[in-house]
Amino acid sequence: MTVKLINYTPEPEKTVAAAAYTCHLRKCAEIDKMSGEKIRKIIRATRNSGHHSVMEHASFTFAVDEISRACTHQLVRHRMASFSQQSQRYVNLSEPDYVLPETIEKNSKTKKFFESAMKDLWDVYNKLTENNIPDEDARYVLPNAAKTSIVITMNARELYHFFSLRCCLKAQWEIRDMANKMLSLVKRVAPVLFEDAGPRCKQLGYCPESESCGLMPTKKDVLKIK
Ligand SMILES: Cc1cc2nc3c(=O)[nH]c(=O)nc-3n(C[C@H](O)[C@H](O)[C@H](O)COP(=O)(O)OP(=O)(O)OC[C@H]3O[C@@H](n4cnc5c(N)ncnc54)[C@H](O)[C@@H]3O)c2cc1C
Repeated sequence: MTVKLINYTPEPEKTVAAAAYTCHLRKCAEIDKMSGEKIRKIIRATRNSGHHSVMEHASFTFAVDEISRACTHQLVRHRMASFSQQSQRYVNLSEPDYVLPETIEKNSKTKKFFESAMKDLWDVYNKLTENNIPDEDARYVLPNAAKTSIVITMNARELYHFFSLRCCLKAQWEIRDMANKMLSLVKRVAPVLFEDAGPRCKQLGYCPESESCGLMPTKKDVLKIK
């Protein structure tokens, strides 16, 4: 999988701080006077107080290649994001192109079953199109493993939420891998804005799930509830 940050709001931290600061100003023009230290202070204060709506003023756009449809199906459940995905109607998919999960790959027997199934599926796909079945119908035979490409835009508030769910070890490995790559990219351009981002336990100080991965104790353990 490759994940690229292809665009983002210029000066995302200044933009978010300006939005927050405006709530306390007589005129927006005063935001130009903010120092770097002031920007950091405002961002941390609004985040800690839960005034997360100001984070919606900074957006980030990613281009992702070599990802499975199984993964994008989970990704597009995030309704506050915008997506544009490769079409299986307009792009010729005659060549087998799929994600092979590591658990299957590391066992020669399961790898053989999997690869043989992929070959059969693409053989049927090609036979269907050769028999004048339109691509939009032939694609019904393609698997969840089929590779795809997708462009994603999320504002910083949604990204925070997305990271809290998808950087967690409970998230499925492929979307977790993508979320971690996205997090490291946004941290390079907005380190203060995303300094606290990551699995939800990082912000809460405990694991909200019934069973912890071990990184943090569960709420029950923290409160010593039986
Ligand atoms: C580990 C894991 C396992 C999962 N397993 C399953 C599963 O088995 N089956 C399944 O179907 N899904 C599953 N999901 C998907 C999950 O249920 C959510 O659909 C997905 O994570 C998107 O989360 P969201 O709705 O919080 O986020 P977004 O859609 O990105 O929304 C962000 C936030 O906006 C608000 N919001 C958005 N839309 C509305 C709305 N219509 N009304 C009110 N508030 C709204 C909510 O506060 C929401 O948290 C799983 C997710 C994870 C992380």
